[in-house]
Amino acid sequence: LSRLRRTEPSVRSFIHVADAAAQREAEELDRRIASGDKDAVGPLAGVLVGVKDNLCTANMPSTGGSRVLEGYRPAYDATAVRRLREAGAIVVGKTNLDEFGMGSTTEGSAFQVTTNPWDDSRVPGGSSGGSASAVSARQCVVSLGSDTGGSVRQPASFCGVVGLKPTYGRVSRFGLMAYASSLDVVGCFGSSVFDTATILSVVAGHDKMDSTSSSQGVPDYASELVSLDLLESKPLNGVRIGIIQETLGEGVDTGVASSIKGAASHLEQLGSVVEEVSLPSFSLGLPAYYILASSEASSNLSRYDGIRYGRQVSANDLNELYGESRANGLGHEVKMRILMGTYALSAGYYDAYYKRAQQVRTLVKESFKAALERYDMLISPAAPSVAYKIGEKINDPLAMYAGDIMTVLNTLFYFGDADLSLLWAMSQSICRHEILFDMVNVNLAGLPALVVPCGFVEGGAAGLPVGLQMIGSPFSEGNLLRVGHIFE
Ligand code: GLN
Repeated sequence: LSRLRRTEPSVRSFIHVADAAAQREAEELDRRIASGDKDAVGPLAGVLVGVKDNLCTANMPSTGGSRVLEGYRPAYDATAVRRLREAGAIVVGKTNLDEFGMGSTTEGSAFQVTTNPWDDSRVPGGSSGGSASAVSARQCVVSLGSDTGGSVRQPASFCGVVGLKPTYGRVSRFGLMAYASSLDVVGCFGSSVFDTATILSVVAGHDKMDSTSSSQGVPDYASELVSLDLLESKPLNGVRIGIIQETLGEGVDTGVASSIKGAASHLEQLGSVVEEVSLPSFSLGLPAYYILASSEASSNLSRYDGIRYGRQVSANDLNELYGESRANGLGHEVKMRILMGTYALSAGYYDAYYKRAQQVRTLVKESFKAALERYDMLISPAAPSVAYKIGEKINDPLAMYAGDIMTVLNTLFYFGDADLSLLWAMSQSICRHEILFDMVNVNLAGLPALVVPCGFVEGGAAGLPVGLQMIGSPFSEGNLLRVGHIFE
């Protein structure tokens, strides 16, 4: 806690810090343990966790990074949060994010800018940037995030921590503010694969409050790691790994590409077979993702009407109440997504955009399925670059185009009065762009993916971390964690 208090003024990971409450909970836990109360010692007793602020927490503000929910205190905990608390964990605060998860730098928060602990002039990534920076700065031990199109994996990579996007349905979404419900998953951050595995076992599993949550049994992921023989010279013998060709070409920083290649040869030295694999539908993933995610968002975000939750403005009639609440409460990027999604779903455009994007989604799924029949897992960078400067992509849009296709649409927010025609022109240019990244495709296919730090590129005081992404078949989190643990 004292480390959190010391580092928070510069890192600004948290929208809400509950350090005094956490201190009291910890003291209470000590008392219960001293009095011999065995129930007090859950698997996460006393472990400080950070929770992304789009997950509901009873008795703590939950804003989703949006002014529209300023002052909102949910009456219940999200299932993942409740399970952490039942295991003894102490929620130390709510971490910063791009508004409703829409963004890649956390600069899209309505409240504050979070900095990257490796270099405070750089972004932590996003949208779960606060959860990643909090673990990276050791302000808490583990944290929860959400990943719709990369929001756990890219900030894990930028902040040099472990990030896991579980299989769609592995963790309940009950209490997660919906962005794109068919893509959203609750994910975990830790400073090691072991810590990440530990919280996954706690939060995963069926929940009757989320009909899309899976009833597959939850392994004890962490104890499976304990039984591994790390001294064996070829612990990955027999493991087949495909390195996705399209992710290492043009548009990827050379330092990132060489770290990933270095990681691949390390995996080979550990006994695995690593081969190049091509994903034919790869270039279609990004435009399809943005159409689907925005379409779902346009529907999901209609609930912020100024009546049900959060801030209410004074108005003369109902329409004015809706209009004023949304006009003042929602940020520019969020409005853009709502407009884009509404457009893609509207009569006359539906077939050309939404339906085609769904067809692409099927293609993407199939090409992953085919590749994962041949390989135990696929690897790629988690992001095409390391963390970039705060504000960098705001003022130099050309560098943004060239350097990091993943953030192109997100950063539109900063162009000022960009209109739909510009947005569509950009998505057309993305359609033509060859370099697209699988963090998005992974969501379209619902697959689990683990990011582990795998190297550094020059920059900052001590170098800037690069993350290796490992993608597996549905419900193969155990495999990914084992390989990640050995690799680490
Ligand atoms: N950057 C992507 C977007 O803005 C991913 C967001 C996410 O995974 N929540 O949609």
